Amino acid sequence: MHISKHLDVISACRFCFMCRHLSPVGNVTCREADTPRGRALMLDRIRMEPSRLAQPSYLESLYAAELSAACRTHCVSHYDEARLLLAARRDAVEAGLAPQAVKELAEELLQVKFKIEGKGEVLYYLDPYAAKQPEILKSFRAIAGDCAILSGGDTGKALLTLGFADEAENVAAKFRDAVKSSGCKMLVTSCPASYHALTNDFPLEGVKVKHSSEFLKEKGLSSGKPGKAYYLDSDYLKNYCGNLTAPRELLATAGYELKPFGTNREESYACGEGAVVYDRLNPQIAEKLSARIRELVDDAKSDVLVTASPYTRHVLKLHQPDLNVVSLEEAILKAKG
Ligand code: SF4
Repeated sequence: MHISKHLDVISACRFCFMCRHLSPVGNVTCREADTPRGRALMLDRIRMEPSRLAQPSYLESLYAAELSAACRTHCVSHYDEARLLLAARRDAVEAGLAPQAVKELAEELLQVKFKIEGKGEVLYYLDPYAAKQPEILKSFRAIAGDCAILSGGDTGKALLTLGFADEAENVAAKFRDAVKSSGCKMLVTSCPASYHALTNDFPLEGVKVKHSSEFLKEKGLSSGKPGKAYYLDSDYLKNYCGNLTAPRELLATAGYELKPFGTNREESYACGEGAVVYDRLNPQIAEKLSARIRELVDDAKSDVLVTASPYTRHVLKLHQPDLNVVSLEEAILKAKG
């Protein structure tokens, strides 16, 4: 079993309470099974008796995890509970135990149709969540100018997080072919999960990959006086990509006065971004995660929330329409006036 490569994590987390406050799902469901400790206890049971993996309540908890990896970042020993959960999901898929909803979603994610529009050395990858929100690409183009666009599906990252490793590789190979056919030298994406995928899971040969915050920061934009804003950290940029500093630096350069959001700087406020398609599989929990953000906002009308994640923007806009939430690209365009 893939989980047997992570026995140190199971042993450490199963009796540890230290990061339970950093489990966004546990914070809204109030279930012990949705904390790193609860999940490690279940996986310890499965380690001893693999047939337990078929237990529906265990599978439900595995796929209810938001994979924010906040626990890994803030654990004093950096135990990798996120990787343990990914291994467990892969075990479930390979044993033919993935829940029906997971299988159906995976089937949908396999139906990619990548296409390139336009030409140029810079290729902007329009991920499925940014594709639902035209404001993001419109703002990016207004700042950065025209560029070629790649669209048509997820990179394979969503399948990987659901536990479909082979299928993810197949989709990633199609994605690589599409990038190669564009002849680009650089790929830019607003999607932190895709950025992590293309810099870690499915690297691109001979093509530099940048998050849009890095790309826009290098453009040396002039600053304005846009006022105060709350930056909601991306799970991927913070907990998977070494706490990329470009989004905060870009906002500061644009003149924003960044205020700390929420009750602490360790918790994830990304609404399930770490699980890539979390809202598709767990819409009710995604709504609860968004409601927690709403609770922590002082003034919905005047507080500006900036997110570097198209996924997070989508979930907050859908469930909390009164919040003033904008993408990084929209925030920078506004600062330019
Ligand atoms: S990740 Fe670290 S802090 Fe969290 S439960 Fe495991 S050992 Fe404890």
